[in-house]
Parts: sequence; structure tokens; C-alpha cells
Amino acid sequence: MNSGHEIDQRRARRLNLRQDQRGPVIYWMSRDQRFRHNWALLFACHKARLLQQPLEVVFTLASSFLGAPLRHYDFMFKGLAEVERSLRDTGIPLIVLSGEPDVTVPAYAEERRAGLVVSDFSPLTPVRQWKRNAAAALSCAIYEVDAHNIVPVWLASPKQEYAARTIRPRLEALRRSFCTPFPQPEAFCQPGSLNCPPVNWDDLLEMLDVDRSVKPVSGITPGEAAAEDRLRRFLVSVIDRYADERNDPNAEAVSGLSPYLHFGQLSAQQAAFEAARCETSKENREAFIEELFVRRELAENYCLYNEKYDSFDGIPEWAKATLMEHAADQRDYLYTPEEFEAAKTHDPLWNAAQLSLVESGVMHGYMRMYWAKKILEWSQSPAAAFDTALWLNDRYALDGRDPNGYAGVAWSIGGLHDRPWSERPVYGKIRYMNASGCARKFDVNRYIASMTSASQATLF
Ligand SMILES: Cc1cc2nc3c(=O)[nH]c(=O)nc-3n(C[C@H](O)[C@H](O)[C@H](O)COP(=O)(O)OP(=O)(O)OC[C@H]3O[C@@H](n4cnc5c(N)ncnc54)[C@H](O)[C@@H]3O)c2cc1C
Repeated sequence: MNSGHEIDQRRARRLNLRQDQRGPVIYWMSRDQRFRHNWALLFACHKARLLQQPLEVVFTLASSFLGAPLRHYDFMFKGLAEVERSLRDTGIPLIVLSGEPDVTVPAYAEERRAGLVVSDFSPLTPVRQWKRNAAAALSCAIYEVDAHNIVPVWLASPKQEYAARTIRPRLEALRRSFCTPFPQPEAFCQPGSLNCPPVNWDDLLEMLDVDRSVKPVSGITPGEAAAEDRLRRFLVSVIDRYADERNDPNAEAVSGLSPYLHFGQLSAQQAAFEAARCETSKENREAFIEELFVRRELAENYCLYNEKYDSFDGIPEWAKATLMEHAADQRDYLYTPEEFEAAKTHDPLWNAAQLSLVESGVMHGYMRMYWAKKILEWSQSPAAAFDTALWLNDRYALDGRDPNGYAGVAWSIGGLHDRPWSERPVYGKIRYMNASGCARKFDVNRYIASMTSASQATLF
């Protein structure tokens, strides 16, 4: 390495017992879809350089991924097109493999007589299953590098943590050694030898067999450059209001980075690194890093260690017990999932939040809590509420299908990472929220008006 910034070997772990061999190094890019600030790509470059072998990047396109509709593929492909250009500029090809990744990756590695495979990390069950199968089928070594988190999840804790207060000291103890600057990828890159035509992303999008009724959104520019630009703008002119105003959905005091973080178009570590150095008060900086680092990595911990993370069964036992005790309580309003989807409740505040999700692919974080808790209050059962909230979140939110989403729904509806509160109908001891609480925090009418006019503007 020539940059002075070593790749911390604790970020990587072996997924099988095969040895590195001579042959091209393949980086199976999955969750961390970026060229810069990507430890998995840097690790693959480093291996390629050590072995004096070319590097190739593959992206696998499974027949479906947790029901993602057109909106999400559109955002992802535009980001990947940018990654492809950056890779090509340094002589590295990007190849798209269509089909189930646990079949296509080993088959491609065999065809190329690969020396080893490097993958990035996700705690989600289908991805982990693909990796297990691929690791068994490959005749070369495969590594997994946590390029998504500041502290690799498996090092942060060996078990499911109870709450932010239990994981925070563990994360803080390791933060300093992991939150380091990144080397420039160009300095590491080992050109590939494969001559293949550029990917036609428009054709790929056209051919996808996905739900096309959830349309792409135009309000957020996808890709690594746009993500870095948004981070810079946030750190220059918004973070000063973060600590005081982040719970006000009208204040535009949050970063809006979650779609970029979700698709790996932005490195959380780089964002934390820059935030730690930006000019603002300690309070703003710490409030932002608490969300970006502690809360986000707590959600990763939940999904890694709780295999029922995407179901009502995954919530804490105390929460399940109290919700079941109140399962038969009288509900003042009852809606079907389709009525929720169409924003047809009696509550203009809830409807406005839902409309913003459907139309723009984004809902403010504070409204997300209110939105999910009302789904609990107005659904037939807590388990049905959990499924409805997750379905709508993952169907419409650009940052959906993310550990933060699973943890967010489980927090709002199932008391995850929270404590029991005073008991009340339907909620039992789950923390309650209502519209008058919102009205004390922000101008509810302004929020309703702005969300409703924005959604009408896109309708006409
Ligand atoms: C019901 C519900 C559903 C949610 N679904 C998702 C989802 O699908 N995807 C998603 O990324 N987040 C989800 N969240 C968490 C949180 O609301 C979003 O991360 C946040 O609103 C994103 O906006 P931002 O980037 O402007 O956040 P900022 O306030 O600017 O925070 C910066 C980053 O910190 C992280 N962060 C912020 N709040 C949280 C939190 N409560 N838990 C974990 N990490 C957090 C995110 O990565 C975020 O991008 C959900 C929360 C709830 C209550």
C-alpha cells in the first residue's frame, strides 16, 4: 500500500476455508454501490495487487429482491451506471450477472478461473443465504468485508443488543480505530484484463420483470456524486439546526441521506468523518453522529442477530405480551392495508405523511414514528399492523428494505430498543404518540398543506 492508510484486516472475514489462488480477483458488489470510500473494493484491489492479478467487479441481478418495484431499480441503476464509469476510467470492468447470485457468482468465478472473491456485507437473511451457498459452491476463497458500517457489525457485539445505551459504549470504544480516512481508490486499482462492452442500463431496466406501478421519483438525484454533494450541503448549511429542529418535519433540518446510504452510494464512515470535522456546535455534531452511527449500527445489530427481524415475532417478549393482552381492545377506527395505502383515513396528518411517501419516496423521520404507531392503533391486530407498515415502507420508501426500516417498524409498533410506558388501550405498554403531541412540536397544518400540494402537483 502506498497511501499510509492500511486496510484494517478486522473489516474482513473468510466465508470458506479455500485458499487464495492465482487468477482474477472478483469483487461481488452488492450493497456498497460506490467507487470511492468503499473498503470492500479497496480490499479487493489490495488482494489483486498482492497477487499481481487483474480485478473485475460483478453485480448480480436476482429475479426479484424482496419485492422491490421499478422506483428502486431506477434509482439503483442510475447509481450503478456512475460506478461503472468510474471503474472503467481506472481500467476495471463491471459485469452484470442475471439470475440467482448463489448460482451465477460461482459459475462466473469458475468460468474466469478466479483466484478469490470479495463480497460486501449485509445482515439481511436472503443475502446471507446467497453468501452461504456461494461460499460452499466456490472452488476459491471468498471474503466478506463490512464496507457499510463504521465498526464491523460482528466486532461491535457478539449478540443482539437491548438498546442504544448498551451498544453505544461498545461502538464508541472502537470508533476511533475504525473511523479513519480512506485512501484514494485510484492508487490501489489493479486494471482488469476483460474486454467487455459497457452495460446498457436502460435496456436492463426495460427488461426487468418488476412491479412498474411504483414509479421512479424525480426529487432526489441518484448516485455517488449527488450523495457527496448532498452531504456537503448538509454540513455547510443545515447541520447547525440539526440538534434543535430535526424533529420538525417543516424545518428541513435533516440530511436526507438515507436513500444514498441504503444503496451504498455514500459511505457512512466518510459522512461521520466529515461531520466530525465540520464547523458546527458539539451538540449538532453529536446529535447527527448518534443517528448516523449509533442508531444505524444498532439496527444492523438487530438484523444480524435476530432472524425474525422482519416479523412481529422478532419484537421483545415484554412487548409481544402487552400487545397480545390488548389485541381484543376496541379500535376507534379500523382500516385495511389498501385503505392505508390510498391515504384514506380520517386523519389529515396521517394521510399527508402517507401521500408524501407514495409521491416522493420519502417521509420525514418524526412522521415515520407517528405513521407506524397509528397503523398499530387502526389495524385489526398488532401483527397485521407490523406487516402493513413494513409493506408500505418497503414498497414506497426509497430507503426501504433496510435494517433501519425493520428496526424502525419494530421500534414503533413493537417496543424494540425502547422500554415499557404507562399502559393504555390497544398499545398496552408501547410508547404512544398522537396528533396533539405533534401539534405541540410543529405546525401540523403547514405540514399537511405542503404535503398535499406537493402530491397534487405531481398528479396534474
Ligand atoms: C416506522 C419507521 C420506518 C423507518 N424506515 C426506514 C427505512 O426504511 N430506511 C431507513 O434508512 N431508515 C428508516 N427509518 C429510520 C429513520 O427514520 C430514517 O433513517 C431517517 O428518517 C432518514 O432521513 P435522513 O437521512 O434525513 O435522517 P437524518 O436525521 O439526517 O439521519 C442521518 C442518518 O442516520 C440514520 N438514522 C437516522 N434516524 C435513524 C433511526 N431512527 N434509526 C436508525 N438509523 C437512523 C440514517 O442512516 C440517516 O440517513 C425508519 C423509522 C421508522 C420509525
